[in-house]
Amino acid sequence: MEEKKQEHYHFIEEIVREDLAAGKYEQIHTRFPPEPNGYLHIGHAKSIVLNFGLAEKYGGLTNLRFDDTNPTTEKTEYVESIKNDIRWLGYDWGDREYYTSDYFEQLYEFAERLIKKGKAYVDDSTAEEIAAMKGTPTEPGTPSPYRDRSVEENLDLFRRMRAGEFPDGSKVLRAKIDMASPNMHLRDPLMYRIKHARHHRTGDAWCIYPMYDFAHGQSDSIEHITHSLCTLEFENHRPLYEWFIRELEIYPSRQIEFARLNLDYTVMSKRRLLQLVEEGHVSGWDDPRMPTLSGMRRRGYPPEAIRNFSEHIGVAKRENIIELSLLEHFVRQELNKRAKRLMVVLEPIKLVITNYPEGQTEMMSIINNPEDESMGGREVPFGKYLYIEREDFMEDPPKKFFRLGPGRHVRLKNAFIVRCDDFVKNEAGEVTEVHVTYFPDSRSGSDTSGIKTKGTLHWVSAEHAVPVEVRLYDRLFSDPNPMGHEGRDFKEFINPDSLHVLPKAMAEPAIREVQDGEYLQFLRKGYFYKDSDSSAEHLVFNRTVGLRDAWAKIAAKKK
Ligand code: ATP
Ligand code: MG
Repeated sequence: MEEKKQEHYHFIEEIVREDLAAGKYEQIHTRFPPEPNGYLHIGHAKSIVLNFGLAEKYGGLTNLRFDDTNPTTEKTEYVESIKNDIRWLGYDWGDREYYTSDYFEQLYEFAERLIKKGKAYVDDSTAEEIAAMKGTPTEPGTPSPYRDRSVEENLDLFRRMRAGEFPDGSKVLRAKIDMASPNMHLRDPLMYRIKHARHHRTGDAWCIYPMYDFAHGQSDSIEHITHSLCTLEFENHRPLYEWFIRELEIYPSRQIEFARLNLDYTVMSKRRLLQLVEEGHVSGWDDPRMPTLSGMRRRGYPPEAIRNFSEHIGVAKRENIIELSLLEHFVRQELNKRAKRLMVVLEPIKLVITNYPEGQTEMMSIINNPEDESMGGREVPFGKYLYIEREDFMEDPPKKFFRLGPGRHVRLKNAFIVRCDDFVKNEAGEVTEVHVTYFPDSRSGSDTSGIKTKGTLHWVSAEHAVPVEVRLYDRLFSDPNPMGHEGRDFKEFINPDSLHVLPKAMAEPAIREVQDGEYLQFLRKGYFYKDSDSSAEHLVFNRTVGLRDAWAKIAAKKK
């Protein structure tokens, strides 16, 4: 019998399958709940792929819900970028675009309900006093002197809080649970605070705002979310969310926690990424070195690579750190299939073919992608004067250098074999020209020369070359765990050499036809993508990733 490949499900998918098999739900309903206080990063992609992916696979629905309870940090700009990024990843929330701020009235009503049940009270203590009364994980807290206010007094004060009678910080609404609970989150947590601040959607309608912990679970409940998936740090909050749901007698969504994505050489928190932007360490949220989805898009990561990566790493209960190089492996895998190959010389030096006729141009046929014949081919002009990479010539090369040096032969990609005879230096001692002879009977495809070569170089005809700017990137941080150093700021570990600009690369003429959004490989140099700074007069390309793939080798060995 043929062996069937067993499909492996991660623990959340197992739960979903069991729930569906048991008929617990007709349809699963998940949500992705970003706070619009920054741009999405690759960690969010893991959550997006998990939520939208599960619903897609099991015929369910996914809501997009903006968790906008904090008026001072949230902006419409962030809302727009988040929607754009989710669409780019290939997911669609249909007409289910929700905002926690749409539930402010409902949440307020929930709060009154708890007050009327004697389960919430207005506290006049200052933030410092509340913190001091909270106790420690080993010592119980102290009840606030305002804890036993009457229902009438609480209701009156809470209504007056809403009406704007009190200044910021003068009062809060707290749940009345248990000041001695071993779970600190149950020690009379805050539900509402006073903030006379304009909200990006509700404007000045409110001057009290619900705390995240009072808003999140209730929002899931309002939307009848079946599986509310969140990161591990909310595990300790779960008893509180369940307490609210129980006391309010509303729809119980099931919260399941999973380990967040951590990547080495990366910081992944909007607050810290905002610092990098505001302090000018990067050019913006979409700087190609940023771990944001907009940065990765601008750099040339295909969305499919991010989805494949996210699915590959799956979800687990324990925190770990994934290597950035694994993500790059998925990027290369995708680009290898799709990228159009072009010849671009990043750091040019002139090559003169002394025995090639002056003024002659001939066209060389080159296929666009050896992985995909349907992408066709193109004609590349060849002539007496070419550019090659400066690093492909050495005056006095070691034996294993299979490129150009005096007396050495190489093949020029899809053209002829040449032999180096001579070179020219300037006053500073730099080589400025390499002189070669070519062998007319060595043309690619009809080579009868019998000359053996080990190296093949890319080249560009000097007469037809298009100057372009090329930007090479290295990791933004030079330390694998920039957050992992006690007492030191993560910005101390910023890599000072993460951006390398090559202002005068020389490209074959086909570079002019490159479309926005087209994936490219510059032969021997890596994968590239046209940058958003690019214009017809000044073409700019980002190196998405180099060609070398350490993960592919590891995977091949395992087989
Ligand atoms: P940050 O710390 O970057 O601000 P956050 O968790 O505060 O992240 P939210 O906008 O609240 O950001 O997150 C939206 C959703 O994305 C949440 O469900 C959150 O759990 C999830 N998420 C955020 N970061 C990660 C991560 N690194 N890995 C997996 N999921 C994440
Ligand atoms: Mg957050």
